[in-house]
Amino acid sequence: METVYLDNAATMPMRKEALEAMMPFFGADYGNPASIHSMSRSPRKAVNEAREKIAKVLNAEPSEIYFTSGGTESDNWALVSGSALRPDKGKHIIISTIEHHAILETADYLVKQGYEVTKVGVDETGRIRLDELIKSIRPDTVLISVMTANNEIGTIQPIAEIGKIAREKGILFHTDAVQAFGHIPLDVKAMNIDLLSASGHKFGGPKGVGFLYVRKGIRLQPFMHGGEQENGRRAGTTNVPGVVGMGVAAEISARDMEENIARLTAMRDRCIERIESEIPYCRLNGHRTERLPGNVNFSFKFVEGESLLMSLGLKGICVSTGSACASGSLDPSHVLLGIGLPHEIAHGSIRISLSEYNTMEQVEYATDALRDAVANIRSLSPLYDDFIKGEGA
Ligand SMILES: *Cc1c(COP(=O)(O)O)cnc(C)c1O
Repeated sequence: METVYLDNAATMPMRKEALEAMMPFFGADYGNPASIHSMSRSPRKAVNEAREKIAKVLNAEPSEIYFTSGGTESDNWALVSGSALRPDKGKHIIISTIEHHAILETADYLVKQGYEVTKVGVDETGRIRLDELIKSIRPDTVLISVMTANNEIGTIQPIAEIGKIAREKGILFHTDAVQAFGHIPLDVKAMNIDLLSASGHKFGGPKGVGFLYVRKGIRLQPFMHGGEQENGRRAGTTNVPGVVGMGVAAEISARDMEENIARLTAMRDRCIERIESEIPYCRLNGHRTERLPGNVNFSFKFVEGESLLMSLGLKGICVSTGSACASGSLDPSHVLLGIGLPHEIAHGSIRISLSEYNTMEQVEYATDALRDAVANIRSLSPLYDDFIKGEGA
């Protein structure tokens, strides 16, 4: 049975050009870029080229890109060190209720360190309530962190507007762009972004490598100590193959972005249209248009997301329920609760996330399987039976 991988928001296949570019640095080109002998030259050059490639995609300078071990580290660094930049001003930070756990739990940690955190809610489409955000700004607010696009429901936030508000108020603005970088256009200058997190494996690079964009002039304190790498801001021997692979993935993502957005949007909208017309009692989660090109997220009444996942799994289809990170936990996703879904509806949700390696045939196959699985599961549900009888009466 062929595997149909539709969980690209959890991680996506590596681009073959990225893998090829990495290979020499696992082999003969093993030098440490921080050394001063001849073996350091080629890895150093490759790391600098990767920095240039990534900076270009963001309209940033190469010196503003700091390599890290991934999105989680970048988010931790941005929040912890970003919040500490203005002790004279205060200890209040603002985030949204639907951030990734890497932000939410770092914010919880900061509360233990004496910070105050305001979590601004979102509307039923997952868009942040801008009026609430503005009202929550105080004289002691030092940092606003709002994700560019949500990993579960795909909603894209009005980042440029938030950036403008933060800049006018002199507040540092960080965005977790892990789901957005390489997938939708981003411009740190036009959007007034001060700090931006991204992760290699979410855009066709390898796992375990990412970066933080730090706008020139922001004196962010290091998060990792013990060496002069990354301009003294992030200690630790550079992950040369990882950085090189991520650089190539960034370059190709940007080169093919327009075409990928068109293809993915067509597959996404076909999937949404079919589900809405063929499966009764469903709800599209997230914004209909301000949405990542590859994201489909639905709730189905009288269905458990876990049962759906298993039925699809039997047909070789890989999708995810509420949240990949919440697997094993019985709590529904904070994102689905954040957009106002009741617990029982949130439990019956799945996310289909596409990449450019998927085909329309795979989307049709998965949608057929989903329609059949929902019907099967409901046919076994006494609750659904009662509901239908009630509807008919
Ligand atoms: C995957 C993800 C992260 C974590 O990135 P890693 O590189 O896997 O640590 C952070 N934020 C969002 C929105 C993500 O989707």
